[in-house]
Amino acid sequence: PHVSAVIEGLCATVTDYPKPGIVFQDLTPVFANGPALKQVVDAIVCAFAGKFDAVAGVEARGFLLAAAAAYATGTGVITIRKAGKLPREVLSESYSLEYGEATLELHQGDVPAGTRVLILDDVLATGGTLGAAAALLERTGAVVAGVGVVLEIDGLPGRDNLAGHEVLSLLHV
Ligand code: IMP
Repeated sequence: PHVSAVIEGLCATVTDYPKPGIVFQDLTPVFANGPALKQVVDAIVCAFAGKFDAVAGVEARGFLLAAAAAYATGTGVITIRKAGKLPREVLSESYSLEYGEATLELHQGDVPAGTRVLILDDVLATGGTLGAAAALLERTGAVVAGVGVVLEIDGLPGRDNLAGHEVLSLLHV
């Protein structure tokens, strides 16, 4: 089956999580399924083949995808983390989330200028998270090669917050 059908079949929809009114798309069953995980990672890597030198993952579920995609292509992983987790000097970007506020950080100087970075996360909702991740990478002198997610929630301004970047979503809901 097509990768979108595989994701749709495994994704669990949880209503009122983490707050009343939020419909949470839980992709952990996709990650837990070996053939599904491989198909997802292969689809992302294939779509951006030859266009990136490193893969950035957004904490925490983005790390799973980034590590797999980096290993598959012999590239390295860049960790974009939540505030206060990185021990050395960081760049910070704050943004508003579908449910709350957050800050992402990136170690200053870990990404050589001009590096073409593919950014991965599990879900694109409002685009605040991936927009902040892209801004961090650009501030450090990297080039955003593209953005890849397993699932995109339509009807939110996710793509507007990523204007100018190639965005791949394997499934839209
Ligand atoms: P955004 O910043 O509104 O685009 O939200 C995306 C970020 O929040 C990603 O890091 C996701 O992991 C997380 N997120 C938002 N909504 C969901 C969801 O329905 N399922 C899983 N993660 C979500």
